[in-house]
Order: sequence, then C-alpha cells, then structure tokens
Amino acid sequence: MDFDLTPDQRQIRELAGQFSDREIAPRAAQADQDKSFPMEVHERALALGLLGVNLPEYAGGPGLGTVELVLVTEAFCRGCLGIGSTLCINALATEPIAIAGTDAQRREYLARVAKGALASFALTEPAAGSDVSGIRMRADRKPGGYVLHGSKIWISNANLAEYFTVFAKTDLEAGHRGMTAFIVPRDSKGLSVGAPLGKLGQRAAPTCEVFFDQVFVPDDHRLGEEGAGFALAMAVFDRSRPMVAAFGVGLIERCLEEAQRYATERKSMGKRLIDHQAVAHKLAEMRMRLESARLLTYQSAWLVDKGRKNTIEASMAKASAADSAMWAASEAVQIFGGMGYSTEYPVEKLFRDAKVLQIYEGTSEIQRNVIARELLKA
Ligand SMILES: Cc1cc2nc3c(=O)[nH]c(=O)nc-3n(C[C@H](O)[C@H](O)[C@H](O)COP(=O)(O)OP(=O)(O)OC[C@H]3O[C@@H](n4cnc5c(N)ncnc54)[C@H](O)[C@@H]3O)c2cc1C
Repeated sequence: MDFDLTPDQRQIRELAGQFSDREIAPRAAQADQDKSFPMEVHERALALGLLGVNLPEYAGGPGLGTVELVLVTEAFCRGCLGIGSTLCINALATEPIAIAGTDAQRREYLARVAKGALASFALTEPAAGSDVSGIRMRADRKPGGYVLHGSKIWISNANLAEYFTVFAKTDLEAGHRGMTAFIVPRDSKGLSVGAPLGKLGQRAAPTCEVFFDQVFVPDDHRLGEEGAGFALAMAVFDRSRPMVAAFGVGLIERCLEEAQRYATERKSMGKRLIDHQAVAHKLAEMRMRLESARLLTYQSAWLVDKGRKNTIEASMAKASAADSAMWAASEAVQIFGGMGYSTEYPVEKLFRDAKVLQIYEGTSEIQRNVIARELLKA
C-alpha cells in the first residue's frame, strides 16, 4: 500500500494551489456578490494546462487521470466553490462522451473542451432529479435522427456552454430502459437557455433552465445505444462523484484554515479561542473529517484510474465530503461568533456554498441509498 502522491501529482497539486491562491481566492467575494463567473480565470487556468486534465491526449488533453483531476479540483474549490466548480464541471459533460462516444464524437467534442469550450450535463428536470428514470423529456424518432422536446433545470454552466450532453426518453413507457443520451450543440434550432437562477450559495457558478422546443438531433449525435442512457448516467456518476467530493474536500480545508486563523488571533476571557478546549476540539474534528473525506475521495478516484468498480467508494466519498463540508462550515461560523454571521468575513459564504454539496450530483440521501444497495449486493 502506498499513500504517497507521485512527484508529478505533487507538482500539479502545487501548481493548482498557487493558482487558486493567486487567481481564485482573491476574486471569490466579488464574484459571489456579482453572481457572475470571471471568465478570465478560465482563460488563465487553460493557459497553464490546469483545465480538463483527464481529457485524452488524442483529443488535445494532457491525458492525466481522475486522481490528478481531484487534486486540481480540491485546490480550486479551496479558493472558491463557485469559481472552482465552474472550472471543473466540464468533466461531468464530457464523461458521457468519453465513456460512450464514437471515435468521431470523442475527437470532435472532447477536443472542443480541451481547446477551452465549456459544456453542460443536462439530466435534471423540474419534476425529476433524484428520480433519474422519471425524466419526461422526449426524443422522438424521425428520419435521420430524433426530435427533442421538453426542459431541463439546474443545469450548471448552461449559459456558457457550447454543447450539452442531454438525457431524454426514446420510449416513455420503458422506465429506465427508455432513456437515451445525445450531444446537442448550443446553436441547435429550438434550444434556448434561461437566465441564471438565483441561489443561496455558489453564486459565481451559473445554473440555468434549458428549453428544447422540437430540437432536431441527427443520428450521429446519439451517445451509445438507444435505451442505454440510464446505465450511462450511472457510469458517469461513478466517475464524476470523486470530483464533486473534491469540491467538498477543498471547502472543508478552507473552513479549517479560516477557523484556525481566527481562533489563534481572537481572545476571549483572557486567552486565545484556540486555548479553550471546546474550540480546539472543533478544529481537531474538522481536521479528522477533512482527512477522512480526502482519503475516500482519493481512493474513489484511484479506483477509476485503475479501471475498477468504485460505485460504493464514490458515493461514500461524495456523501462524506458533502456532509462534513456542511458541518465544518457551520462550525467555522460558530468559531467566528457574531463575525461569522457578517458578510465582511469569508465564513458566511462558505456556509452558504456548502449546502449545495449535499444536494447536487445525488443528494446525501441518494448516496446512502446507493451505499445500502451495494451493501446488499455484496
Ligand atoms: C446549484 C445546482 C447545480 C446543479 N447542476 C446540475 C447539472 O449541471 N446538471 C443536472 O442534470 N442537474 C444539476 N443539478 C440538479 C441536482 O442534481 C438535483 O437538484 C438533485 O439531484 C436533487 O434532485 P431534486 O432537486 O429534484 O430533488 P428531489 O429529487 O425532489 O429530492 C428532494 C428531497 O427528497 C429526497 N429524496 C428524493 N428521493 C429519495 C429517495 N428515493 N430516498 C431518500 N430520499 C429521497 C432528496 O434526498 C431530497 O432531500 C444541480 C442542482 C443545483 C442546486
């Protein structure tokens, strides 16, 4: 067993960490307030080779693994969950293509992202989020392709996306076996994107509704076989949940940094906060939860790179990181006392940002359903 990162992994983690300190963290408060993603950060990260690190070399990517992706993601999200997640979430949209795409689809659409395009993964609908197989968007067979009709909600980066990987029903009566995935370019006739939705946190990350009004999609834009969309979505989650877990790991790390600094500087009843055992124990617990979530995250990513099944590990990592991030953000606010409630200090934003980690990419309840199901299978 070897818990050490390779020299190359240490190097990319360091580069991403420096980038986060220099380019992401200083913009976090303003981007949150403006509710807008600073595109120049995307350009700079791209120029340094820090985006799409797991994209294959044949598509113009660096061809690194999921471990490297989570190292970069963790560092970015330590700076800001909104900016960091926006820089990384392309990986969710490209994963269906990497898994099920034809050679031609991969070379075209992965290469676009490697060159700097943004893309979105469009599964959730107003009436179906956790209930993936309950989506109602239709993909009706027509000569030469399909006509997509319906709408999606909560689609990250939709207003910036050049294309979407979309899940729809080719057979409304066939339950999860009636789902099929497609690549849909942004400029397709009949496709429109709503204004960014107002959110509690992660405000630098745009999230929109997407409307499909009789959008024609040619056959060569279908991903995999007709009816294979549900299995594809599940395979995508196994590979993307380690990255979303890393969102949480980065946020916990930031909570610990901020809380430890404040607890060392602030005095109460003649001694530093950190010298009160009740406060020191909170910091100790944060460190424990950080390391637990991080180890689960790295392990679940490492399994992807080894080509091994990681369903239970990915769900454990995602739920552990999300729940610990929410807990850590709440305790960070507590350690700051009244100042924790103030928009002048960074921890109220961490608190608002953390909540979404327990909701998207499968809620914490759904992760437990997956873990329990895998337990029963074993
Ligand atoms: C900021 C943000 C960004 C997002 N980005 C994307 C994106 O890019 N692409 C995309 O497709 N989607 C995206 N989503 C959607 C997200 O994945 C869903 O919101 C999430 O899966 C939950 O679905 P829901 O909102 O329909 O809630 P519901 O499914 O209605 O769940 C409501 C509550 O009921 C619980 N619940 C539901 N079913 C069960 C069950 N079987 N067992 C136990 N508890 C259950 C849930 O855990 C939750 O607490 C995003 C959401 C947000 C908020």
